[in-house]
Amino acid sequence: METSLKAENEALKKRISELEAQLANRIGHASVSSRQSYPPPNVGEKSEVGLSLEEYKRYGRQMILPEIGIEGQMSLKRSRVLIVGAGGLGCPAAAYLAGAGVGALGIIDHDTVENSNLHRQIIHSTSRVGLPKVVSAITYLRDLNPHPNYIPHIEPLTTENALQIMAEYDLVLDCTDHPAIRYLINDVAVIMNIPIVSASALKTDGQLVVLNNPPGVGPCYRCIWPRPPPAESVIGCGEGGILGPVVGLMGVMQAIEAVKIITMNPVREVGRAEMTLFAAYGASPFRCLKMRGRKAGCVACGSPERVEEKITRESIESGRMDYVAFCGGSAGVRVLQPDERVSVAEYKRVMDSGVEHLLLDVRDRTQFGICQLAGSLSKFFHYALYTGLIRLDIPYTEFEASKYGDSEAGEIESKFQDQPKDRPVYVICRLGNDSQIVTRQLKEAGVFPNDRVFDIEGGITAWARSGVAGEFPEY
Ligand SMILES: [Zn+2]
Repeated sequence: METSLKAENEALKKRISELEAQLANRIGHASVSSRQSYPPPNVGEKSEVGLSLEEYKRYGRQMILPEIGIEGQMSLKRSRVLIVGAGGLGCPAAAYLAGAGVGALGIIDHDTVENSNLHRQIIHSTSRVGLPKVVSAITYLRDLNPHPNYIPHIEPLTTENALQIMAEYDLVLDCTDHPAIRYLINDVAVIMNIPIVSASALKTDGQLVVLNNPPGVGPCYRCIWPRPPPAESVIGCGEGGILGPVVGLMGVMQAIEAVKIITMNPVREVGRAEMTLFAAYGASPFRCLKMRGRKAGCVACGSPERVEEKITRESIESGRMDYVAFCGGSAGVRVLQPDERVSVAEYKRVMDSGVEHLLLDVRDRTQFGICQLAGSLSKFFHYALYTGLIRLDIPYTEFEASKYGDSEAGEIESKFQDQPKDRPVYVICRLGNDSQIVTRQLKEAGVFPNDRVFDIEGGITAWARSGVAGEFPEY
């Protein structure tokens, strides 16, 4: 088992280095010149960076805008932009920045393209499933515009490499979906004096904010979010779902902000940040919030005399800053002991044995409607998942009532309440995170005998992948 995994790894590594070599040949050497200072010293001056006749034509439609002009185009050509994450945000952002003619575009990502990415990660393609996202992205971008220097970084951004990588760029786009990486990008960008265009999207909502802009003046990520959200509340696209055009829109807006920064569009209110919130299904989808300015006590950007232990190059490189621990551990929820969980194979045996039990499916009704295990009772613990408390005095939440109507929500609730309380309960969700939280809460609330509530590890996804019950859809 281990040997085959090792062999697979070796084969993948070999394939990646082949692809990198091909890529290097096709895009020319990804030479990395020393970083320009910010703002670029020669903005607006005629410089050594000229435009070819082909480029005049290519960028003509944007160059005739007074906001861009020839000076703006030259600034774009001199700019060096790093996109962290070639996913739903990074794809459209990269496409528009490449199209706009940035000088160098670095893309960092260690994932490979998966079929479930394609509904939103528009620069990847079905034929490139399985390839590193960076390779897939650059293949597309090179075809879109051969002029920029595309710099591949097929690796995760870590405390060991972040300072070195980000030093080569003037601007960073935070297109990640994990808080630990957001904090790392922020801290390094503050040290390196580069602005951050940060966006996020989940389900049908998105947000966008420009940070550390101008560098040394505007608030940073930590000024606005000094503490990470609780690890259990961090849900990724895999679990929470995402509407493709919503994350696409946020990525496009990141490209707009990047162009504005590069072309030196004056910051509307120096030292303040503005957050744009988007809700696709909201009555008025766009809202803008004015954020406060820098915090003197911020551990990343605050004044040294006001901060006990300021984050420095040394504290990052030495590994003293443990971003994963700061954000509450690695991905995945761990709130149960091993004996409180059963594997899908163990549950299959329970199912086959005919032992009376309750299979409680805690996914929401939309997901339950996609596919479900035979005999399961659907109940979505919206309130428990968002507050960490099961409230037996609230029969069903307003959310459930608004989504399904009072009568259906009431029906689900009374079915749940009527369950015999002496039988074992098995809790299942999509990936095995929500089910752990609900299992813990059911035990604490004493709804069922404490020693007979079990979480099904890995949820419906593990059920489908393991094939314990033949073919089953994975979504
Ligand atoms: Zn700060």
